[in-house]
Amino acid sequence: MLVTLKALGCRLNEAELESWSNDFQSLGYSITNKTEIADIVVVNTCAVTQEAVKKSRQLIRKSHRINPKAKLIVSGCYSSLNPEITNEIETIDLVVANKNKDKLAQIVNDEINLEAMPSIATEPGESALFARGRNRAFIKVQDGCRYRCTFCIVTIARGDERSKAVSDIVNEINTLHQQGIQEAILTGVHIGGYGSDIESNLYTLIKTILAETDIPRLRLGSVEPWDLGENFFELFANPRFMPHLHLPLQSGSDSVLRRMARRCKTDDFSRLLIKACSSIADFNVTTDIIVGFPGESDEEWEENLTFVESCKFSHIHIFPYSPRQGTRAASMPDQLDLITKKTRTRQLHQLANEMRIEILKKYVGRDFPVLFENHIKQTEDGRQSYFAYTPNYLKVKYVWNEELSLKNQIHHVKLSGYDEQASHMLATSFA
Ligand code: SF4
Repeated sequence: MLVTLKALGCRLNEAELESWSNDFQSLGYSITNKTEIADIVVVNTCAVTQEAVKKSRQLIRKSHRINPKAKLIVSGCYSSLNPEITNEIETIDLVVANKNKDKLAQIVNDEINLEAMPSIATEPGESALFARGRNRAFIKVQDGCRYRCTFCIVTIARGDERSKAVSDIVNEINTLHQQGIQEAILTGVHIGGYGSDIESNLYTLIKTILAETDIPRLRLGSVEPWDLGENFFELFANPRFMPHLHLPLQSGSDSVLRRMARRCKTDDFSRLLIKACSSIADFNVTTDIIVGFPGESDEEWEENLTFVESCKFSHIHIFPYSPRQGTRAASMPDQLDLITKKTRTRQLHQLANEMRIEILKKYVGRDFPVLFENHIKQTEDGRQSYFAYTPNYLKVKYVWNEELSLKNQIHHVKLSGYDEQASHMLATSFA
């Protein structure tokens, strides 16, 4: 029996795919990334924006079109917030609500009637990640969030904070490392809140992982810029803890941040960055910004641009605000028109691009150990192009003159430049 798993949206959705892959394998299924030959297709949906909802619906329909014979299973925030989805899209065979996600593989196994069910349960040998064409592992360490940012539908869809036990996370990373995985990325809805329900915290978790595993590279997924603890930055003294953080700012205007009910104002954010940059070599920061939050005035937008520029982000995930039903922001007065949001989005893209070029320029001529991913192109003479990532999460395109595969290996390379769109660094030789 073959299972294909697909995710939209956040890294948490991606992390869930990874644990489902292992669960399905333990039940005797095999994982494929080819929808057309799968017996079961699982789609993990997202509802963070209207666009994500649209894409979720498209992905469900497309999966059925590609393989109408496969059983279609849907889970994730969109389907959890819209349980009537099965009436709208009749080709769905089963919806698994977010609260039952941890048992998804077992539920599918129990409820979906396939002619020949797998008979021999196996322990996964090779990592299911490789079967899905991935080589970095997203590890879900917690779910849910205690806060109520006024724009956030995820906190509603995902419920209260629940943390995975430290020992389970350590075991999971050790197993993945034994299977050949070189990099683990800790993810959750609010990972700064890790341990609030089990008398632990993020600092202890990271310290324990670094002490009790040999995974060469450990990094954090998106982490809110608060709840990090006084001693948090000491962790980066260990070179296996990667010097990059994705800290969602959401706006560079304090009055907008207040309306968003964010717990980190611009001063706090600046202090955090100063601390990080002064204690971590080559520290790299990326962020999320919401454009056109209700009531965002011209002055607030200017404040936002000025503050964002001062932060020197290497990448900004830009979200034009879209009201999500059930959130407080959706019923706030002074919703902005589409044209204003589009104009501001363009402005911010331009600023983000200028900042990225400045940062990439700084790294030309330096060398870093990079983790190679799948090759992206192979020419007739055997040359291959790879994408790889530096420890501080700069994307690097590497052209390799040999036929030997570099996939999933770590090598030092010399950064020789960056591409015209400044989307990644370039390298052509080992350092
Ligand atoms: S802290 Fe993050 S997950 Fe929690 S409500 Fe705010 S945006 Fe949503």
